[in-house]
Amino acid sequence: MTDLSNKVVVIMGASSGIGAATARQLAKDGAKLVITARRLDRLNEIASEFPEGQVIPVKADVTNFKEVQTAINMAVEKFGRIDVLYNNAGIMPLSPLSDGHRDEWQNMVNINIMGPLNGIAAALPIMKKQGQGHIITTDSVAGHMVAPDMAVYSGTKYATRIIMDGLRMEEAQNHIKTTIITPGATQSELTSHISDPETRKVNTDYWSNVDGLTADQIAQAVEFAIATKDNMSVSEMIVRPTLQS
Ligand code: NDP
Repeated sequence: MTDLSNKVVVIMGASSGIGAATARQLAKDGAKLVITARRLDRLNEIASEFPEGQVIPVKADVTNFKEVQTAINMAVEKFGRIDVLYNNAGIMPLSPLSDGHRDEWQNMVNINIMGPLNGIAAALPIMKKQGQGHIITTDSVAGHMVAPDMAVYSGTKYATRIIMDGLRMEEAQNHIKTTIITPGATQSELTSHISDPETRKVNTDYWSNVDGLTADQIAQAVEFAIATKDNMSVSEMIVRPTLQS
């Protein structure tokens, strides 16, 4: 078992899939957690599995800076500091550009790009004052390539990957570590938000055709990045199913 009992971690987007699996893994490792998302009932369920006070659920929408800031401040209030911010919230309503789903494009920009930026804006001043910290963001292999129906989602993940690398360059000298977690197809609720039934089916089928990873397998990558010594920074981990080309 990895001992993370000396870590205080805030996870954005912890109510399902990768975020929920990571919350459970880190809590088993002894970390103290603030877990956030919009579905508070799911967060409460995770918190109830661990000793009272170890996992604090906070309802927060990543597009709302005040709510993000409240969640991050909660870690400092309850546990005295924040060692790790894990920006994991994301959505993937795929569609061809010709469908013109401007509302879904706007949501992806707000959640996938502004979400991590809101987290950075809230956590970085605290981490700089502490003289240490670690910011992790879930990106995607879609942040390295594009395919039909994926233009906007890939665009948001390219943007977030580049923002995270800029953060690394700006803050390395201040002992702030950064990690980009880059999953391939992973079983979760992500494809359930695709509005076009045909596109949803193609993508859901793809996930099972490549024997998609479990969310627990991505959680192991996050755990590894967090457990590294202060002088070792895992800048990016690309973790994909063996069958995914
Ligand atoms: P899920 O849909 O299971 O989880 C998404 C999480 O994001 C949920 O906890 C959800 O919580 C949260 N979330 C969404 N919108 C918001 C919001 N506005 N404010 C706060 N939280 C929000 O999917 P995954 O676990 O797969 O997704 C996690 C991350 O992994 C995403 O960034 C996704 O892009 C990325 N990823 C996933 C891959 C996969 O194959 N599954 C592959 C590559 C990357 P709630 O709805 O309760 O707010």
